[in-house]
Amino acid sequence: MKAFKIAVLPGDGIGPEVTKEAVKVLEAINQQNSTFAIEFKEFEWGSEYYLANGQMMPDDGLDQLKNFDAILFGAVGDKRVPDRVTIWELIMPIRKNFQQYVNMRPIKRLAGIESLLKNEQAIDFMVFRENAEGEYSNIGGRLYEQQSQEMAIQNTVITKQGVERIAKYAFEYAEKHNKSKVTSATKSNAIIHSMKLWDEVVESVAKDYGNIELESNFIDALAAYFVMRPESFEVVVASNLFGDILTDLGAALVGGMGMSPSGNINPEKEFPSMFEAIHGSAPDIAGKGIANPIAQIWSAALMLEHLGRPDLSVAIVKAIEQVIQERNVLTPDLGGTSTTQEVGSAIAEKVKHLV
Ligand code: ATP
Ligand code: MG
Repeated sequence: MKAFKIAVLPGDGIGPEVTKEAVKVLEAINQQNSTFAIEFKEFEWGSEYYLANGQMMPDDGLDQLKNFDAILFGAVGDKRVPDRVTIWELIMPIRKNFQQYVNMRPIKRLAGIESLLKNEQAIDFMVFRENAEGEYSNIGGRLYEQQSQEMAIQNTVITKQGVERIAKYAFEYAEKHNKSKVTSATKSNAIIHSMKLWDEVVESVAKDYGNIELESNFIDALAAYFVMRPESFEVVVASNLFGDILTDLGAALVGGMGMSPSGNINPEKEFPSMFEAIHGSAPDIAGKGIANPIAQIWSAALMLEHLGRPDLSVAIVKAIEQVIQERNVLTPDLGGTSTTQEVGSAIAEKVKHLV
């Protein structure tokens, strides 16, 4: 049996703390289940590496990663390093060069999670965020003749090909999972060039999926609907910026930042896909051992699904759910008093009985 080869980039802040627990759970499965083998190689790239070497990863960093089956990523961010560097010299090059143009972010309330909302209905939908273009571009700059007239221009890039592939991915997913509706986040009433093209392309893709309804909502209204009727969503497709904002909002509905996983997917599987919690390095709690590792452990579950082991992925989510429902071992964000490591170990123990 061939072992899956995983590149582990723990990163900064709570990144290494939660990633260690995700690896612990994967190793528990490795020990328990003879049909599964996994190997890890760790790369200490991130802000410390930058402070020592003047760059976030070595020049041949992407080459070193490209033959792995997947990447498990912690988080990057450090107040001593500009965001421009942490984002644009590590995460973005990986996402762009490995053509991870789909960012999948499940918004699912697990059993036992108390909601901020009165609504007790199930919240379980998938957001597909465009991950390679859109509003997060480094095109733009400052223009001025005199300091007092300083202005900044930031360009959004929306391409027909870019929208087509993310929209297709969302509709394919909907079809495969027997969903009846895809919701598109737009703002073409005010952002009249780029979002207009977004709408046109999404509508044209939708025509190929006769059984699936396309609902198109302006982002402002959609944000409100997320709170008012989260149970009504099945699949949401959104641009880079809109998807980013919507999924933090979605995370808040299902237990917070510590409960929200993601995958950066290269659907063609030509390059490794990358899995990470949607939260950042959380400097406010880093080093205290209280970060919730569930988002990162769940991200590892998404990774196993991508690698063709949905059975093991489901087992991890079940193990997480059991630990939450027992309420004995939880981090403070979920109302408990346990540490990151204790939660990781509890989930690793549970999963052994499920695989
Ligand atoms: P970055 O600049 O790296 O994005 P940030 O300051 O934006 O970091 P986030 O990591 O996005 O911080 O977190 C936002 C808030 O959510 C913080 O108050 C943080 O403590 C909390 N938080 C994030 N992740 C977790 C987690 N895994 N467990 C508990 N709390 C978390
Ligand atoms: Mg953040």
